Amino acid sequence: MKVVVIGASFAGLNVVRNLPGDFEKVIICLDKYPYKKNFLLDFLLGRVKSKDLLFEEELFNIENTEYFFAKKVTKINPKRKSVILDDKTQIVYDVLVIAVGSRPRYISCPGVHKRGVVSLSVLEDIKYIKDIIDITSHIVLYLNTSLGYYTLDMFSLRKENLKVLIPEELRWQKIKESVREENMDSRLSEFTYYFGLEVKEVIGNGDVKALRLSNGKIVACDLFIVDTGIKPNLEVVKNTDILCEDALIIDGNFSTNIEDIFAVGDVVNQDLSNYIDYKGTSDKIIEDSRHLAQIIKSRY
Ligand SMILES: Cc1cc2nc3c(=O)[nH]c(=O)nc-3n(C[C@H](O)[C@H](O)[C@H](O)COP(=O)(O)OP(=O)(O)OC[C@H]3O[C@@H](n4cnc5c(N)ncnc54)[C@H](O)[C@@H]3O)c2cc1C
Repeated sequence: MKVVVIGASFAGLNVVRNLPGDFEKVIICLDKYPYKKNFLLDFLLGRVKSKDLLFEEELFNIENTEYFFAKKVTKINPKRKSVILDDKTQIVYDVLVIAVGSRPRYISCPGVHKRGVVSLSVLEDIKYIKDIIDITSHIVLYLNTSLGYYTLDMFSLRKENLKVLIPEELRWQKIKESVREENMDSRLSEFTYYFGLEVKEVIGNGDVKALRLSNGKIVACDLFIVDTGIKPNLEVVKNTDILCEDALIIDGNFSTNIEDIFAVGDVVNQDLSNYIDYKGTSDKIIEDSRHLAQIIKSRY
């Protein structure tokens, strides 16, 4: 029995770890070093070191398991029961588990892909922010989840460099309620906020230089941190018959509509795009993944 798992994070690794030793297992992931997204903010804020982002070593020595890291699954072929990697390698499966997690949501406006426009949910973006933050004069934070809220800590000594865009005031109230930190009001009053405005254009020649806001105002900006949260990563199931809405659709046993294909983790979370806070999400995924491994074990 060969189980192929796409994604080596909380979901994928915990499925593989809980499958029996005599099952042949293959796990594929984009990252050279799979990392824990839930520690990204602590890494940004200097509370943990980069080595603490990595998953425990035992997860990379699981019996009867082949690891393909820094590889992307570009195609799933349910008829042939195989997946194709970006280097054209074809891997066949008896059972496929899709555990490809989430990706950042972005705002849509011209120029949003310029250098200097970053999210808070991808390691490369966090490293970029850490590298340039001390030499950056004009930072704009588009704050729409608790992730952005927590980054305000970074700016307490450089508040004059930061402008905070709050697109939805009601959501801002919800973020404050969900975070509920002590001395919050006095800390928050240090910053300058722009409420109810959207970004209409990211201006710059290659690198971001300024933003044009919905009231017509041009704001200088050499680092634009876009905190719009995350959404299920559905790229890998495009051009397949696997059913999706806002997330991949599964039944109560983690089965997709295609035989022998299962899914678990952020990729099946229909509400993920609306989250303002992510606490507890990974614990539930670990539990679900263990449960899925038991289902696979009992069926195959
Ligand atoms: C900034 C941030 C802070 C968070 N804080 C918390 C917190 O405090 N507490 C909490 O419980 N949760 C938190 N979360 C949520 C938690 O991190 C996620 O719920 C969890 O990481 C989801 O795990 P996952 O395995 O489903 O997917 P992900 O962690 O998103 O991993 C997806 C995996 O799929 C791989 N992949 C994707 N596409 C492909 C492809 N085409 N080919 C091969 N591999 C692919 C990736 O390389 C990765 O290994 C936070 C999330 C973020 C972004």
